[in-house]
Amino acid sequence: MEKVIIIRYCEIHLKGKNRSYFEKLLADNITSALCGIDCKMTRTQSRYLVHSFADGDKDAILERLKRVSGIHTMSVGYRVPSALDDIAECAVFIMRDKEGTFKVETNRGDKKYPMTSPEISREIGGRILSSNHALKVDVVSPETVCSVDVREDGTAYVFSGNIHGIGGMPVGGSGHGTIMISGGIDSPVAAFMMIKRGMKLSAVHFHSYPYTGPAAKQKVVDLVKILSGFAGSIDLHVVPFTAIQEAIRAHCPEEMTITLMRRFMFRITEIISRSIGSQAIITGESLGQVASQTIESITTSNAVVTLPVLRPLIGFDKLEIIDISQKIGTYQTSILPYEDCCTVFLPKFPVIRPKLEKVEEAESKLDVEALVSKAVADTEIIRL
Ligand code: ATP
Ligand code: MG
Repeated sequence: MEKVIIIRYCEIHLKGKNRSYFEKLLADNITSALCGIDCKMTRTQSRYLVHSFADGDKDAILERLKRVSGIHTMSVGYRVPSALDDIAECAVFIMRDKEGTFKVETNRGDKKYPMTSPEISREIGGRILSSNHALKVDVVSPETVCSVDVREDGTAYVFSGNIHGIGGMPVGGSGHGTIMISGGIDSPVAAFMMIKRGMKLSAVHFHSYPYTGPAAKQKVVDLVKILSGFAGSIDLHVVPFTAIQEAIRAHCPEEMTITLMRRFMFRITEIISRSIGSQAIITGESLGQVASQTIESITTSNAVVTLPVLRPLIGFDKLEIIDISQKIGTYQTSILPYEDCCTVFLPKFPVIRPKLEKVEEAESKLDVEALVSKAVADTEIIRL
């Protein structure tokens, strides 16, 4: 009886000819997620098995697997020889402390096995009942399911219960994007949504030293570290933004500050993205949430780039976003009260529906190219 963790995927099943590519990618991502823990991982017929680990490492392994995109569910159980007595002994052991109602569910991958699935379930169920009198059978809505999976190689897996993974697709299978990350709640969630779709990420953060201090930068570093637990390593590009903000303040109408800042952010993010082979820009924008996220504002900032801009939160309510940020563990960091570069230079009455010609006219007072090149040249890269 060997303890195992069974890992299942979901959406990869829908892949036709590319399926083995995604299976290998997920296997590689699982292996790197478990790096440093003494265990083995093998692939068996559209599943993965983690085995040969110390009992004390089980929880740490599960915690890491819960962050691997592409994993649908996991079960902790045992691998045993497929002889009925071995299966029964294991099932009795798994169910020894359970109470209430249960049923046994059998999946028979080995079609030559001498008993049918219902026969196996009935027999194992009977043995569980006679060893644990606190249990009753309920085949319709049992509190506990004891699952038996009989495989063709003379082994069987016995387990009870499923643990949910994050689902989605394995990271690395859906290209490379650049998340524009502030210290706020939304952008880390936007990053997570794209990680879940299999995108490898780089990150760009604009900071306004000395208006924003080291704590504000550390907050973003901490957020990217949390995200790298899901995505594998992420390069964070920290762009000095103060000179641009001061130029805008000195030469442009105050109410356009945010619109102009956002156009600079997009331009710089696009240049960095192209230089690192990233194919898309990702933001945490949600339609109508603030003045800079009206459709007119989005249009004026989008106008300066040609890379696709992905806005995975565009149709989300703030409460839905907060809910995800709590689940992925970024919320507590996001709400730390440090100034962001945008709040420092916030105008009293920002223009809500900017017109592109007016914005371009205001911007013509600035040496856009020089400001952008200087910011890109002075960017610091931190690998997380
Ligand atoms: P967030 O919660 O992500 O801070 P927000 O609701 O504060 O978003 P805005 O300030 O309008 O909204 O920013 C919209 C998006 O622009 C952010 O989600 C993020 O993708 C990007 N962004 C804003 N500030 C920065 C920054 N300092 N560095 C990098 N990207 C930024
Ligand atoms: Mg913000």
